[in-house]
Amino acid sequence: MKIDDKLFLNRFLPDSESHLKIINRGECLHDCMEKPCTIFCPSRVYSWDEEAKEIAVAYEGCVECGTCRYGCPFDNIDWRNPRGGFGIMYKYG
Ligand code: SF4
Ligand code: SF4
Repeated sequence: MKIDDKLFLNRFLPDSESHLKIINRGECLHDCMEKPCTIFCPSRVYSWDEEAKEIAVAYEGCVECGTCRYGCPFDNIDWRNPRGGFGIMYKYG
């Protein structure tokens, strides 16, 4: 089974406010040329918004793996667990 198929089996209860925050958007724009968060996140939470010139954060699909907590080369992501009762509910794993 592919990862996308496995992720589809899980259920999400998104909070109204994001548990993932970009600390310094200027750093994403000016200093981080490779933007690895758009690659290493298994749920593709981060994407580059060319029009807004900033990273868009689709926190609703976060599987709480914690990769972005360590993977951002500029330590520019404020990562927290979602509030109790919100976030992903795993059916497998
Ligand atoms: S990896 Fe970090 S600094 Fe680079 S674009 Fe993503 S959040 Fe910004
Ligand atoms: S915790 Fe994992 S799934 Fe959630 S945004 Fe970070 S890398 Fe993506």
